[in-house]
Amino acid sequence: MENMGCSKLHPQSMCPAFGGLRVLMRIDGTQVCMAADQGCLYGLTFVSHFYVARRSIVSPELMNVQISGGTMIDDLRRTIEAIAEDPSVRFIPVVSTCVAETAGIAEELLPKRVGNAEVLLVRLPAFQIRTHPEAKDVAVSSLVRRFGAFDHPKREKSLVVLGEIFPVDAMMIGGVLQRIGVQSVITLPGADLDDYAQAGRASACAVLHPFYERTASLFESAGMKIVRGNPIGANATAQWIERIGEALDLDMEIVRQVAEEEKQKAKQVMAGFGHLEGSVIVAGYEGNELPLVRLLLEAGLDVPYASTSIARTPLGEEDHQLLSTLGTEVRYRKYLEEDEEAVLRHRPDLVIGTTALDSFVKEQGIPAIYYTNNISARPIFFASGAASVLGMIAGIIAKKDVYRKMKEYFAES
Ligand code: SF4
Repeated sequence: MENMGCSKLHPQSMCPAFGGLRVLMRIDGTQVCMAADQGCLYGLTFVSHFYVARRSIVSPELMNVQISGGTMIDDLRRTIEAIAEDPSVRFIPVVSTCVAETAGIAEELLPKRVGNAEVLLVRLPAFQIRTHPEAKDVAVSSLVRRFGAFDHPKREKSLVVLGEIFPVDAMMIGGVLQRIGVQSVITLPGADLDDYAQAGRASACAVLHPFYERTASLFESAGMKIVRGNPIGANATAQWIERIGEALDLDMEIVRQVAEEEKQKAKQVMAGFGHLEGSVIVAGYEGNELPLVRLLLEAGLDVPYASTSIARTPLGEEDHQLLSTLGTEVRYRKYLEEDEEAVLRHRPDLVIGTTALDSFVKEQGIPAIYYTNNISARPIFFASGAASVLGMIAGIIAKKDVYRKMKEYFAES
């Protein structure tokens, strides 16, 4: 995708359109119409089936002759009309990708509604949106800008929780918010187009992941309070609950009591592991790595280096400052080569990384697990999340010699 010189060849992100498709295709009644060339379409059809919603993408044939021959907009309009003939389709996102001509499609030449379906152009070119997490933000903000019911009266004590999270975490968050007196919660990205409309009526938004900058500023400009951080680790959990209480003007006595209870539960879990020892490198590409690092540091582990694919953002600044103070070198917009170099420099006891990095790490006889499968696919919030993540990490570090022995065995045989 990008070549920045011989020492930095591999920026790590899926195709950004993948992140946007995850958000758009999971909405009920959606049929994506993609404006892309055949190469992108081939790859993105694969991901839409295997990693998104097991649904197909529809696209007009856009070969050179259509793109340069001037029929592209007419072809797109015809495709949208054909999709809209299905009465079960309520929403047709038109997704444009990297091909310059499709990235520059004029929105005013597309219909806003056809038959039963709303039509919305979402531009996801990789040369502008560098990573798939940031493309999620582009998709969510496009949806909220178009459908958010900002002109309706605000709902008191109503909160938007913004960020893709593991289902158990969503249940835990719902339970805690109910205990502190939050009256309604909308979770975005969501499966119902109406969630994006109702989000415009909420009083505050808790942004769980730091890359939702566009969406957060849209909500903020509509008068909603923005709550930063997330309930990961004992200290941040209590702080997060209190921030929600303040943002929604809840009964702070109850809020503080619940915050203290949840903090103590998380502390107990961490104490149960004793003083965890070992060093861990975290090098994901999902944009939510820094709160995990915070949890590991709070549990007593050493994290000399952490990296992510996204840019440094104001929403993630608190974590950045804390991690830097505690001695973690934080790298944004990272390259595979930087991660590999950090592994050789620090020789940690465990790497939580991307697939390409993990292969390299295992060849060094160092344990490595894939961030997406092992962190994004388990709870991480509150005490139960800490138990799940730290339990897994403690178990792997305890067996780290197995990797060394494996390497020695294959080296000798
Ligand atoms: S949209 Fe861009 S990054 Fe994605 S597959 Fe096509 S050319 Fe590659």
